[in-house]
Amino acid sequence: MGDIVRGLLELQAQEGWLPPEGLEALASRLRVPLHRIESVSTFYPHFHRSPPKPVCVRVCRDVACRLSGSGDATAALRAWAAGRDDVSIAGTSCLGRCDVAPAAAIDDATVDARDLVSIEGLAASDRREPGTRAVGTWPDADPYVSEPGSSGGARVPADARPGPDQPYATLRRVLAGSRQAPIEALERAGLRGMGGAGFPTARKWSFVAAEPASVKHVICNADESEPGTFKDRELIHDLPHLVVEGMAIAAYCVGARRGTVFIRHEYEPERRRLAAEIERARALGALGDGVFGSDFAFDVDVFVSPGGYILGEETALLECLEDRRGEPRNKPPFPGRAGLQGRPTVVNNVETLVHAVGIVAYGPEWWQALGREGFAGHKFMSVCGDVTRPGVSLVPSGTTFAELLERHGGMKDGAALLTFSPGGASSHFLGPEAIGVGIDFDAVAAAGSMLGSGAALFVAEGRDLLDVGLSLTRFFRNESCGKCVPCRLGTAKAVEQVEKSGRVEAEDEAWLRSLDETLQQTSLCGLGQVALGPLLSLVSRFPERVGRSGGD
Ligand code: SF4
Repeated sequence: MGDIVRGLLELQAQEGWLPPEGLEALASRLRVPLHRIESVSTFYPHFHRSPPKPVCVRVCRDVACRLSGSGDATAALRAWAAGRDDVSIAGTSCLGRCDVAPAAAIDDATVDARDLVSIEGLAASDRREPGTRAVGTWPDADPYVSEPGSSGGARVPADARPGPDQPYATLRRVLAGSRQAPIEALERAGLRGMGGAGFPTARKWSFVAAEPASVKHVICNADESEPGTFKDRELIHDLPHLVVEGMAIAAYCVGARRGTVFIRHEYEPERRRLAAEIERARALGALGDGVFGSDFAFDVDVFVSPGGYILGEETALLECLEDRRGEPRNKPPFPGRAGLQGRPTVVNNVETLVHAVGIVAYGPEWWQALGREGFAGHKFMSVCGDVTRPGVSLVPSGTTFAELLERHGGMKDGAALLTFSPGGASSHFLGPEAIGVGIDFDAVAAAGSMLGSGAALFVAEGRDLLDVGLSLTRFFRNESCGKCVPCRLGTAKAVEQVEKSGRVEAEDEAWLRSLDETLQQTSLCGLGQVALGPLLSLVSRFPERVGRSGGD
């Protein structure tokens, strides 16, 4: 499973790209037809099918970085690279570093796109002969990974995690009880998935537990790639033991023996921390045959994603793990019935697993009491855009977006708030009048948007809203997997038309709304269904402000 993708990642790490003779050798070694290698290697944006320049600087072109000056930074980098044949400067989709925007990457090392000194230094160290590149060369001192408490918000409170003197204490306790008890605790707590869809976690675990199959899987989806969303990166960095423990508890409940963490390749420091934690868990007896002396066997591996936002969609992720192009499957069947290799599979987001451990450890009443104003639980929120201190906060459910903004230092330079999106790139924008809405799935839905992946983007007065909305439509266009014609062509046409018009006139709006309806009805997955929503929400709320926009 995943041999082709892993083989391609290794080949590229060795050669710097995927030379034809290397692909043929891989096909021969894995005993698969060459067309399968070609099919996979031409799909994923991380793979180079032609030799890249020795130094490739990729600058994030998505909304948070755009608001923070990625356009100017790109121009400065292009001027720096002018006349050099060893450097390329290109745009890229969200790097998951919206808290240090504008972000750029050299290989998988992330830097401030304005920091020419660091970029020059990284470029010098990266200018090597092909064959000397290695996976996992990230420096230990990573300035872009926050230390606990440094990102403007609280972390998981001390009483929400097992103490260091009792590693995996919750798992130990679970193993002494029934497999149904943790599911009942999650059901009573009302925990919902934190990756975007908000599906009830207990129901997902119950479906898989009820399947009679002898082989089942647990997958942790750590492929967050939506502009504005970076909370899972910090959770993996700070609390990898809760991710592993959550997976083990899920596996015990549903009857799985194997788990996989599917993590984006840009999260190399986090992958290393996770790999170290998995080793520690094995040494402690929390993973392996006979976990803590029981008859329960479970182990976890880490799979590095070859890139693409669409892989966050659970069936596209499964296709990737099965060595195919990451195109979403028709549903049903859902992964709970026929997931990885046709086996019942639990796919949970990082944050969902972390919360599950707390609920199982301290009970549903503890979870209910964490919230405010009648809401249950707490929530990690990514905060970025025109705020003083972008970062991640853990807040009680029911905390208002006004309080969240305040927690991050308010609007940058004292600017007035113009609009905000409460739940990631696919959520609709809300006006300042909604700043008192509480952080909760239902409350945000009632206000006309969605909590989605828990990513709040704040936009200041004076910003070009058409540019903000169009950058999101461009993101979905760039990340469409192309499987559905309406999504592939519709998103491209929408961008082309609005760029040509330079604003959304009444005629354009009618056409966009009709296209949006078509996409909602005909798209196989959520990407196509939401692609035009954010832009149209700005058109609805701020028709008079949808002015001229800059180019890509
Ligand atoms: Fe791919 Fe778009 Fe279809 Fe989703 S809606 S499967 S992203 S083409």
